[in-house]
Amino acid sequence: LLFLIIGCNSKEAKSISSNEKDVIDIKVDSILKLMTLDEKIGQMNQYNGFWEITGPVPKEGQAAKKYEDLKKGLVGSMLNVKGAKEVYALQKIAVEETRLGIPLLFGFDVIHGYKTISPIPLAEAASWDLKAIKESAEIAAEEASAVGINWTFAPMVDISRDARWGRVMEGAGEDPFLGSRIAEARIKGFQGDDLSSKKTVLACAKHFAGYGFAESGRDYNTVDISEHTLQNIILPPFKASVDAGVRTFMNSFNDLNGVPATGNKMLQREILKGDWQFNGFVVSDWGSINEMIAHGFAKDSKNAAEIAINAGSDMDMESYAYIENLKELVEDGKVKEADIEDATRRILRTKYELGLFDNPYKYCDEVYEKETVGKKEFHEGVLDMAKKSIVLLKNENNLLPLVKSGKKIALIGALANDKTSPLGSWRIGADDESAVSVLEGMKAYEGNQLTYSKGADVTTGRTQFMWETKINTTDKSEFSKAVEVARKADVVIMVLGEHGLQTGEGRSRTELGLPGVQQELLEAVFKVNKNIVLVLNNGRPLAIPWAKENIPAIVEAWHLGTQSGNAIAQVLYGDYNPSGKLPMTFPRNVGQVPIYYNYKNTGRPIMNEPESVFWSHYIDEKNTPLFAFGHGLSYSKFEYSKLSLNKENFNATENIEVSITLKNNSNVKGKEVVQLYIRDLIASYTRPVKELKAFELVELNPQESKVITFKVDEKMLEFYTANHKWEAESGEFKVFVGGSSDVTMEGSFEFIKK
Ligand code: BGC
Repeated sequence: LLFLIIGCNSKEAKSISSNEKDVIDIKVDSILKLMTLDEKIGQMNQYNGFWEITGPVPKEGQAAKKYEDLKKGLVGSMLNVKGAKEVYALQKIAVEETRLGIPLLFGFDVIHGYKTISPIPLAEAASWDLKAIKESAEIAAEEASAVGINWTFAPMVDISRDARWGRVMEGAGEDPFLGSRIAEARIKGFQGDDLSSKKTVLACAKHFAGYGFAESGRDYNTVDISEHTLQNIILPPFKASVDAGVRTFMNSFNDLNGVPATGNKMLQREILKGDWQFNGFVVSDWGSINEMIAHGFAKDSKNAAEIAINAGSDMDMESYAYIENLKELVEDGKVKEADIEDATRRILRTKYELGLFDNPYKYCDEVYEKETVGKKEFHEGVLDMAKKSIVLLKNENNLLPLVKSGKKIALIGALANDKTSPLGSWRIGADDESAVSVLEGMKAYEGNQLTYSKGADVTTGRTQFMWETKINTTDKSEFSKAVEVARKADVVIMVLGEHGLQTGEGRSRTELGLPGVQQELLEAVFKVNKNIVLVLNNGRPLAIPWAKENIPAIVEAWHLGTQSGNAIAQVLYGDYNPSGKLPMTFPRNVGQVPIYYNYKNTGRPIMNEPESVFWSHYIDEKNTPLFAFGHGLSYSKFEYSKLSLNKENFNATENIEVSITLKNNSNVKGKEVVQLYIRDLIASYTRPVKELKAFELVELNPQESKVITFKVDEKMLEFYTANHKWEAESGEFKVFVGGSSDVTMEGSFEFIKK
């Protein structure tokens, strides 16, 4: 019967053009009419994967309860189930054994790849290459959808200015403009143009909102920020996600200005579903509904459920709060049935958009799974992305690229011989030792004599359980061997940094140097050989002032995923010319954090009184960063000249053209990210010293010059003003163009608002 009412016309469910949306709405309405209150609440319930469904049926405990609920149609979605076979078995229960046969959504943290792992998101952001980032998400979607997953909990679009926070690895860095463009690219990559195709998954913009501004960089901590920061810095990538068509949002663990994000009506009902007209659904973060009890915001789980649904959280991830309490709350008159219906409608709509009502088993094909997972093309794709993510931070004496033959090369550092760490945090679908190590990547170049010596481990123990805390080692017993190898070498490559599992969720740090004894190892090697190339493997900006001062070449290679070692070797040997730029400021010292390029001037800016004790400064450290946002070198030499504007002022109906000449003054073809920043000089709220407003990735042949022109319009001047809305204000502006936030040419113009 249901089949007849809701229809199974695959054409209608294929894409989500506005017409077809109406068709979907009609179908959703017709199912809603058939559903009991319990069944509607069931759609709002998401359970973690609980047992090998293809194994014996659970008889007791939580697993048995979940199994029973599933059979009664009281589960809308499951997470952490993987494999076409497992997904099929669960989907079969939902579709064939429940009264209405509504298919399940299967969610999973496909953060940077499922099994073929791409660079961590922060690294991908360093490419500033939106096409490549979109393609990387396409690979992840294709591979994940082949193992039964139809919903990824990505992208994380939280802006963060605090490198202590372990989850900066999962985002796009500190800038709302870059973060917004990257959010769009990822969402389009995951969701594609046609959600009902086999290769796409629902995306999820998370964590709404403020999670990246945890006090002291400690994960899950309180967030207390102004409306100004929320609007101008944190919300733009979320708004961009809605505009890019993201179908789901995840709320957040944190308290935002006294109201936990999960119970935050202003965020979810007023801004997201009200102002932004988002018609997808919001899932809570893991157990975050019940966490409102510990926050001191709800007295028990029932109260937490009431607060969460009234605030606009549509689906409960693993709190049991909705399934156990919502019915009673409706009966008590504390929750409106219309709100339950609205949440259910949103969830059902995405199931239609995915085409699950037409073909609930479209993600359950074991043959296709086998053919697809780990495909050669995926490896080529993640290798390409890995190369594009590398940032050349320093290169003196042309130490890089390395010559290909006749040299003795020492390779030092435990991370150089690590096949797990490059996978970074969040790679639960991947095999543990599946990354190409730097040692393996370097060995492919046979012309030089390569000798490896570990020097020291980064952490103690090598067990890889996802949530294990890594303890830094203090063992220096192998230093002397490494020093001897370095003494005899022409060039030393040292791969140092953080273990992949020293970053990510729950892994905040109070120090930002090289963990453990690695700094000492670096200095010990430097004493016998100064020709060092430092290759960093890390998931956050590091404070390494000594290295910047002393080491001639530094390569930021993050955690680059499955193809890490190949990507690094190709860059070191010059088979790939690096073009990455930092998406996050590197501090000199952890005490400078939060440090970011789009700061505001104080009343005592440095330029007025450089000698005075009264300007805003530290007595023991400079104000400037170690490496600025936007910084990154190349084997080419790019020169900027002739910044010009085509007029002095413009109004809302016009734009102004800002041009610059870029020259590749070298004999190597290369790519440069040309960045445009704007400063609003006087405004109703104080404005940052500069803000990124446009960028272009330009490729130039040796000695080639090109004029790059940006159009600046009213939209680019908008911010959240004292009128409490986004608008541009009349006045004087400065414009800066360059290859980094701290090296720019400047001009100025006036905007006349009429
Ligand atoms: C994280 C989310 C993640 C969820 C499901 C939570 O702990 O904060 O980002 O999607 O777990 O694994």
